[in-house]
Amino acid sequence: MDAEELTDIFYTSDKKGQVCRVKLNGQGFTLQRETSNNRSREQVIDLKDIVGSRCIIVKKDRRGCSMLCSSSNAAQTDGNRSDSGDETKKRSNYLTYEHSDASAYLYVFAYILNKKQLRNIIRRERTVLKLRFRSFDTFVDNMREAKRWYHTVKSFKGLSLSSNGTTTTDGRRILVLLNPKSGSGKAREIFNRQVVPVLNEAEQSYDLHVTKHPNYAREFIRVKNLDNYSGIVAIGGDGLFFEILNGLLMRADWPEARHMPLGIVPCGSGNGLARSVAHVCGEPYEPKPILGATLSVLSGRSIAMDVVRIQQQNQILYSFLSVGWGLISDIDIESERLRSLGYQRFTIWTLHRLISLRTYHGKVSYLPKEKMGVANCGGEETISLTANLPTIPLKHSRSCNACLNKINNGCFHSTQCINSSKYYDVISLQNSINQSLNSRCDSSWFSPGSCRSTYHSVSESIYHSIEGESDSCSEHLKLSSNLSVHLCGPTGSAPSLQEPVPATWVVEEGEFVMVHAAYQTHLGSDCFFVPQAKFNDGIIYVVIIRRGISRSQLLNFLMGMSTGSHVPETNNEYIKMVPVTAFRIEPYGEEGILTVDGERIEFGPLQAEMLPGMVRVMAPK
Ligand code: ADP
Ligand code: MG
Repeated sequence: MDAEELTDIFYTSDKKGQVCRVKLNGQGFTLQRETSNNRSREQVIDLKDIVGSRCIIVKKDRRGCSMLCSSSNAAQTDGNRSDSGDETKKRSNYLTYEHSDASAYLYVFAYILNKKQLRNIIRRERTVLKLRFRSFDTFVDNMREAKRWYHTVKSFKGLSLSSNGTTTTDGRRILVLLNPKSGSGKAREIFNRQVVPVLNEAEQSYDLHVTKHPNYAREFIRVKNLDNYSGIVAIGGDGLFFEILNGLLMRADWPEARHMPLGIVPCGSGNGLARSVAHVCGEPYEPKPILGATLSVLSGRSIAMDVVRIQQQNQILYSFLSVGWGLISDIDIESERLRSLGYQRFTIWTLHRLISLRTYHGKVSYLPKEKMGVANCGGEETISLTANLPTIPLKHSRSCNACLNKINNGCFHSTQCINSSKYYDVISLQNSINQSLNSRCDSSWFSPGSCRSTYHSVSESIYHSIEGESDSCSEHLKLSSNLSVHLCGPTGSAPSLQEPVPATWVVEEGEFVMVHAAYQTHLGSDCFFVPQAKFNDGIIYVVIIRRGISRSQLLNFLMGMSTGSHVPETNNEYIKMVPVTAFRIEPYGEEGILTVDGERIEFGPLQAEMLPGMVRVMAPK
């Protein structure tokens, strides 16, 4: 669709009523304000920071209170309606026009990087540009104008997505899986309060499925028809993402399915992947990790990500983060009993394990990176995730003005406008969406123990529970969740675990404090394990710590993990980091903990092999 630049003159809503020329084009909005000394000040709201916009009108309810409403309802009540008479009656019962105001409004929602924060904290701030259209005498004409701007924003967004991507906006939904038990059990609440409002602003539709037990997500993704989805998003921790990844690569159609972009909104206790995505893409993480991750889901951009294939005697697994044996895995798993403490559980258990240090006897073999060229099947490409949905009804807000003018009076209205009394706190937009959603969920929906599991979104007025379906689905999933051997999925070129280690591999035998391999920068939000890792570099970084290391050295190592200074620049007798493309761990004892992506797996020999760029992960613009 072609999009033409739009310009118009607006006035600020404050007493000064300054003239502001507003331009909308492929760069975004340019606001050029004339100041009293005839100099003009320019401000740009970058298109890539804009998530969406809405046309809105002001209505009055029966009690005479003003109400903000979306244009779709407005247009219907205005003579273009196509719905049934009953529906008309129902709506007009509580909505009548405020005839004195023929204005139409356009709200533009953007999340702009604020680099001038105190203490060098860079973060994104929600910014709402409100344009009031009242150049025409009738509401219909003003709304037509507002809609012209609305559609132009959409067209430019669509063009920008398709120009750096492979597909255009096609109305597909996002498939969302939420683990209510992840982290300290707040995933439902975080999703409802922090993620949904932003998805709504972007008019991104989604289907939400709440997991019912471990392996639910894996089996769900393995059998789900994914044709109508543009991406899959985990609302949870790395464990939930691990399930989704394995479900995807276990599918019979995995060669196609692997291109489906995967996203994560960090609600777990570790959150290594979300932190790594932010780090590699130069996006701020703290203090708003949920917002950053949600914007990645909406960006339409995805990057290729390496996957490591894990072979054990009885199973094949696919990993995106790490494989561990010894100290770090012990801490990860044994601290489960302190789960309610969130991330703190790791710190407490680290101290405990340091005092009662264990070592493990076994053999580690690996194929150093230099010895093998790794094919790259990933490549940078982007896809579009945005869907087209109708505008939404907004509930009344009592508070006026204040928060609207966030971008130095970011609220402008077109010619003739003098009276600013009709401004509404735009934050009410966000809250009212939330309230209307929440009022339809009983409070148990928020509780980690709730049994309600499946919902369709969102144009917000549509909200079905399809619990009947989900229950039968759940039965099916329970039956199939015992499946432990993968019949499908990508294979590599390394020998099977039963065969001897090839002569080109390096073999180390002895007593180890730990062997921990990673392929992302962060193992947790505060664990900067491999500073040099890239998403698609085809490298597994194996860190080996041998028996004999002193406790103070080990303490330094563990403390250095938060800044990435834990591994010495040159390998030494006790600590080393080797870049490899495949490795094998063969414990000699019967007991110990092995983890893949922070999840405990069967204890016993394992082999890991790099599959470069196997899947795609959603990334910020
Ligand atoms: P965290 O980062 O806090 O560990 P995750 O989302 O990674 O959170 O999930 C932790 C574990 O919970 C994973 O092993 C996952 O398989 C499991 N899980 C997923 N859904 C459920 C559920 N509904 N009930 C219990 N456990 C679940
Ligand atoms: Mg990598």
